[in-house]
Amino acid sequence: MTERLYYADSYLTSFRARVVEKSTDGGAVYLDRTAFYPTSGGQPFDTGSIAGAPVVDVIDEGERIAHVLGAAIDADEVECRIDWPRRFDHMQQHSGQHLLSAVMAELFGMATLSVHFGAGSSTLDLDTPSLSAEQVRAAETRANEAVFENRPVSVLFADSAEDVGLRKASDRAGVLRVISIEGLDRSACGGTHVRATGEIGPVLIRKLDKVRGAVRIEFLCGLRALRRARADFETLTKVAQVFSATLDDSPALVASQREALKAAEKDRRRLDEELGVLMGRELYDATPADSLGVRCVVKRIASGALYPLRAMAEGFCARTKAVFIGVVEQPPTLLLAASPDSGLDAGKLVKAAMHEVGGKGGGASRLAQGSVPSAEALERAISLLTAPFAFPRD
Ligand SMILES: [Zn+2]
Repeated sequence: MTERLYYADSYLTSFRARVVEKSTDGGAVYLDRTAFYPTSGGQPFDTGSIAGAPVVDVIDEGERIAHVLGAAIDADEVECRIDWPRRFDHMQQHSGQHLLSAVMAELFGMATLSVHFGAGSSTLDLDTPSLSAEQVRAAETRANEAVFENRPVSVLFADSAEDVGLRKASDRAGVLRVISIEGLDRSACGGTHVRATGEIGPVLIRKLDKVRGAVRIEFLCGLRALRRARADFETLTKVAQVFSATLDDSPALVASQREALKAAEKDRRRLDEELGVLMGRELYDATPADSLGVRCVVKRIASGALYPLRAMAEGFCARTKAVFIGVVEQPPTLLLAASPDSGLDAGKLVKAAMHEVGGKGGGASRLAQGSVPSAEALERAISLLTAPFAFPRD
């Protein structure tokens, strides 16, 4: 059985221990005592070194704790060191979580369903269908006030049969390890915690997500909160610089620019269509009529949407005896337009051609369009539509 030194002292960063066993592959060692926290209760494991070898994972096996090492060790008596910045960061997030959960219960009667401590940020799920922005602000303020009050955080042991006023009942039997935030919270927990709320540092709540009828809040404590706030500020500054505006003016400016862009897009599309119609008329005038007096033209563009060609087809076929084929090479699509006096049914012709080349399409007698699977199928469809049999004119 491994003696868990971190239960009594979260601030122990170096210790000596005896190696009691090594796994057969030599990758994991078992010590008689350890300050290395194994992944449990949502809190990630500690890193550091054992006899100079890096600790890459710490696993709770119930009675014992396995330390997975990045290199083999030989000694029986070993000097161990915990990576303190990582451990302290975990302590800040974990104590911060207890504090936030206590505040949510105190202010709104919301219970914490589960917690997750991530490498970047942490989350807790609240038993509530919704949480307003006002509630988030109130909880964040209350949590930070409790940080300033620098309330002692202590560890006590109590029998599970005893009523010690836990925020959330524990299903463990026997002796419970209870983390107490003076005057605010008592929770059964095996994690490592700071000794007073002041050490949690700033508490920052960020995004909210709805997850299976609960609300998941993302939060950061300590230097993580500071780094995130700095990164947010830098991002907002870049946005503001684009608009040569202040940070506070930027949201309204972004919204108005977006509206202006939408209006400009709409105008551009309308102008494109007007231009297309004019170009179609011009193209008609420049296209010689065949022996039957019909003007037929194939207009190609390399890529993009069909709608500019549709406008051109409209302009072209507004005149007499006109047939217009518009082709977009990528994605391979085409349209066929015919003037009423051309004697052609565009819909039928496109449908037949698509059937032949494995494409999809159809439309009305004056205008139809189709899309095909490949460049090769597109060329075949064009030759089918321009072949003399495709134009029965009598
Ligand atoms: Zn805990």
